[in-house]
Amino acid sequence: MFSRILIANRAEIALRIIRAARELGIETVCVYSQADADGPWLEFADQTICIGPPEASESYLRIDRIISAAEIANVDAIHPGYGFLAENAHFAEVCRDCHIEFIGPSPEAMSLLGDKLSCRRMAKASRTPIFPGSDKAIESEDDAVKLASEIGYPVIVKAASGGGGRGMRVAHNEMALRPGIAAASQEAQAAFGNGAVYVEKYLEDARHVEIQVLGDKHGNSVHLFDRDCTSQRRHQKLIEEAPAPGVDPKKRDTIAKAAADLIRRAEYAGAATVEFLMDRDQNFFMLEVNTRIQVEHPVTEMVTGIDIVKEMIRIAAGEPLPWKQRDIMLRGHSIECRINAEDPQRGFIPQPGLVTEFSPPGGIGVRLDTHCCSGYRIPPDYDSMIAKLIVHGASRDQAIARMRGALGEFRIGPIKTTIPLHRRLMDERQFIDAEFDIRYIERLLRSDGSGVTESVSIPRPPSGR
Ligand code: ADP
Repeated sequence: MFSRILIANRAEIALRIIRAARELGIETVCVYSQADADGPWLEFADQTICIGPPEASESYLRIDRIISAAEIANVDAIHPGYGFLAENAHFAEVCRDCHIEFIGPSPEAMSLLGDKLSCRRMAKASRTPIFPGSDKAIESEDDAVKLASEIGYPVIVKAASGGGGRGMRVAHNEMALRPGIAAASQEAQAAFGNGAVYVEKYLEDARHVEIQVLGDKHGNSVHLFDRDCTSQRRHQKLIEEAPAPGVDPKKRDTIAKAAADLIRRAEYAGAATVEFLMDRDQNFFMLEVNTRIQVEHPVTEMVTGIDIVKEMIRIAAGEPLPWKQRDIMLRGHSIECRINAEDPQRGFIPQPGLVTEFSPPGGIGVRLDTHCCSGYRIPPDYDSMIAKLIVHGASRDQAIARMRGALGEFRIGPIKTTIPLHRRLMDERQFIDAEFDIRYIERLLRSDGSGVTESVSIPRPPSGR
């Protein structure tokens, strides 16, 4: 096992990794930018190293500085968390060249599954269902138009190396498709340095259901069941739960096994998420594979009792998975609300600044993953998520009731947060009945005129998840 690891990330996920490492008796080294010099999570690391100014491009994304820090601190491995360099195959490769273990998949497996196009090809070879659409990047507008008329509108143009909901355009006809290709490609080029885009069928009223999987370096893989992340705003998840409500257990079993099989075929070692959209008849279509720990991993931990971050570290150290599929059980229901420092009344505009009031909820079945506390100043430079409130209950109804109570206790001020929106959603019929699709929150916000966001463009900081 490793004796010291470096955490190439910040905020709640840095703290989450520190906790897992501590339980395994591993020392932690945290790198940080000047904007995070007072980051409360740094107190819990054994060593901290400043790697540059606030801009992520000059700190958390600087491979050379992170590797230098790793060399100075003499660590055995690096955990990238999510966002930043977590899905950067070049970073994983540099780690390998420097004889530092990357806590995640090999660069080869990451490239294979991380690129949406090669992932689609890989899925086709296993039994993982995918959307009808392109097998390769779009070469000309005319080819795309031909394909779209074959699969039928609406279609969606997507970036091969997309993430965080960027580089996507929905087209209901040819007139929208042509400019959509150029727009998506430009956005993808700017955000990911790769302008390759492809076309697939667009599902209007889908649910987002994903499978958590784990693979080891010995050719084993298991799944940890499913999560529902249908509650989104602008393609970004707001509420996640496990298991996905109302999914036929046989269907779940088939899809989950296919997902585990997919990563095994890719010789994938680490934690991954195979994301699907599910239609009203519970047909599944793969969206992509995320080759890292997900923000929403705690809901899976709550229903399986498995510490996913600890398993990632063990897998990277070469340990085989300690269980067979049949040993992994689902227990109860878990829900997570992402608490963002944003003002839902004003187009979800980020709310950096000093937190003077921070009074967390508690009680049975309540978990709070956060780096925030009273006196913390939220820097304007990064993602606006400041806490994840997670509950567990014997049933979905109990989990909802528990979440209502916890949200009612939670006080954060004076900055605005998404807590009031979550409170409202916990009372919303569509959520309670799980009669929802990925656009229901936007419809709700639009219908009462609150949080109308179409005209407000908020550039997302480069900690995209
Ligand atoms: P990203 O990597 O940017 O997160 P995904 O492929 O995971 O991109 O898609 C993000 C979200 O975009 C999905 O959760 C869904 O809301 C929407 N989306 C993507 N592809 C489709 C599709 N074919 N049909 C309908 N919605 C889609």
